[in-house]
Amino acid sequence: LGELYVVGTPIGNLEDISFRAIRILKMVDAIASEDTRHTGKLLHHFEIKTPQISYHQHNHKQRAPELLARLQQGQSLALVSDAGLPGISDPGYELVQTCVAANINVVPIPGPSAALTALTASGLPSDRFCFEGFLAAKGAERRDHLAQFEAEPRTIILYESPHRLRQTLQDLCTTLGADRQIVIARELTKLHETFWRGTVEDAISKYETQNPRGEYTLIIAGKPIVETVHTDDELRQKLQTLIDQG
Ligand code: SAM
Repeated sequence: LGELYVVGTPIGNLEDISFRAIRILKMVDAIASEDTRHTGKLLHHFEIKTPQISYHQHNHKQRAPELLARLQQGQSLALVSDAGLPGISDPGYELVQTCVAANINVVPIPGPSAALTALTASGLPSDRFCFEGFLAAKGAERRDHLAQFEAEPRTIILYESPHRLRQTLQDLCTTLGADRQIVIARELTKLHETFWRGTVEDAISKYETQNPRGEYTLIIAGKPIVETVHTDDELRQKLQTLIDQG
């Protein structure tokens, strides 16, 4: 049996590809790419001559049997997406699931992902966080998704396209309040990388005069944990603890 390598690729800066990723991409029999033209540029840059097979959200069901057959014949394949880690708001999960079910070994080749790259430099708590990908474009699904954030104490990571950024900031303001801290990470690892930090309200003002452009990852502070005391007994206990502590 062959192996499936799930390969992380750069999210902007080509220097972020690993030595191992290059070696694997050169070694495999074929590369299943989300967009063969896009990945073609990466392969050209690193002089990788491996043939590509297109594998994207619109053809993944038809392509899976062919890829599985290749793996079962002993070929090794690499799976890449346009940028970052396959399967993270990108195609990949279904192929991995198919391989796991067919006892094909799946080997992750780590690389950057916009979510964690943004989080690590955001300055917001990174000990506990939730990655929520893209919000639904509109309707009840979007409202339901946003409603789930209301009580969320963990840092929230969202991907957003430039043309929906303003709407998303408005919706975050309605759901989480104008004062919530947000970090807008733009064009990570690229020439115009910027981190903007402030409240949701200030972010809305900023984009009133400026058109969102480029790629955006949003890092949103979780709901502050406020200790509430419900009963007289609990209050008495709290006071006693404070007295005991001197
Ligand atoms: N698989 C990718 C990953 O691991 O990061 C994410 C793919 S998703 C289709 C693309 C979204 O990721 C963009 O719309 C943007 O929200 C975010 N993103 C990707 N590259 C980025 C970058 N260089 N700077 C900021 N956000 C980025």
